[in-house]
This record gives sequence, C-alpha cells and structure tokens, in this order.
Amino acid sequence: MNKTTSPMKMAVVLTLGIIIILTLLILLKNYSTTPEAVVFDEQPPISGQPLLGNVDAPVSVVEFGDFKCPSCKAWGEAVLPLLEEEYINNGSVNFSYVNVLFHGEESEIGSLAAESVLKQSPSDYWTFHKQLFEAQPESQNHDNLWLTIDAVVDIANGIPSLDSSLLRESIEQQDEIAEVNKDTQLVNEYNVTSTPTVMINEKVVEDPFDYEMIKSIIEEELQEHE
Ligand code: CA
Repeated sequence: MNKTTSPMKMAVVLTLGIIIILTLLILLKNYSTTPEAVVFDEQPPISGQPLLGNVDAPVSVVEFGDFKCPSCKAWGEAVLPLLEEEYINNGSVNFSYVNVLFHGEESEIGSLAAESVLKQSPSDYWTFHKQLFEAQPESQNHDNLWLTIDAVVDIANGIPSLDSSLLRESIEQQDEIAEVNKDTQLVNEYNVTSTPTVMINEKVVEDPFDYEMIKSIIEEELQEHE
C-alpha cells in the first residue's frame, strides 16, 4: 500500500494550523485588552447631598459638576431630563449632585450658594440649581466672569420661598464651607479630573453624553439589585 501523506503535505498542514492558532490568539488578546469601565469598591455616599427621586431607589446616579462648566450645563439640559423621564420619576433611580470647584472663586460662590439653598429650603434646591445653570451665558469661555454673589442673589429673588438676604449673608460668611469641603473630598476620593463626571452606583460612565451607554449600565444594575 502506498502512503499518500508526503512530508511536504504534512509541513503545509502544520504551518497552516500554526497560522490559524496564532491568528486566533491575537484576536482573543485584542478582545481582552478592550478598556474596562472604572469601577470603585463603593458608590459615593449620597447622604447630605441634594437628591432627586426616591431615596431608596436601587440605583444611584451621581453627577460631579461645576456651575461654571459649560459641559455640565449641556449635560443637565440634554441628558438629565431623559433620566428623569425614564428612571427617576418611576423610582428606579435617584440622582444627586456633588460640587466640583475647578474654576476658582466663581465655582466656590456657586457651591456655597447651592449648599446654602439646600440648607435653607431643600424643596427649592433643584429649581435654584436649574436656574443657576440657565444663568450661565451660552457662549461663555471659562474666563468670563458671571457667577457672582449678586447674580446668585438675583436668582434667589425670583424664588419666593427663598430668603435672598439670608443667602447673601450665608455666602459672604462662608457658612456652608464644610459641606463644600466635604464635596471636594469626594472629588479627590473618586479621582474626578473632568466635569461632568457621572457615576452609576460604583461605576464611572466613560462618556456621560452617551445615553445608550448610561441606559445599559442602569439596566444591568437594576437586574443585579432586583
Ligand atoms: Ca454637597
């Protein structure tokens, strides 16, 4: 009987086999080096922070934001309303906001004002928060001065249940600086380097403007906490 497998054929088959295996290994390696989302051991604590929605919601979304930051204004106008409509209003998600002071004195005035309103009249907080972002000029660059004590007091004047002279006093005396510092501590603890940074439970959203990504993380978390 004549054996048909010549050494030449064997070599070709072996070489092809090796090439296929190497290609598969390279493909698998590329798969596993896809960047992973940053996940902390614990979600940021939300007690003492302004809260929108159900305090016992299974999923918490936290925005690290700065009233001086144009992207934060844009996020609050474009993404937050979608979250409210789909998840916050029905109790599955709650939302809180942590102050970030990346733009100096104006960020500080905004933060002190917001903390002061939260203390004086918690039910007015989100109205004030929204109106302060609305007051940010559309075409502002970071160097434009607009977030002044007068501007903040003006906004408070338009909200009947707020005492605007009490607010002015509170900002001038830095009454709520401890709360502002508490937020800065969270900013450091969670390595926040840009605003807005958005976290869903323990996870940092890679692109806070990618609503589909936000949705898929929320759905995942809702299933996990069912
Ligand atoms: Ca705070």
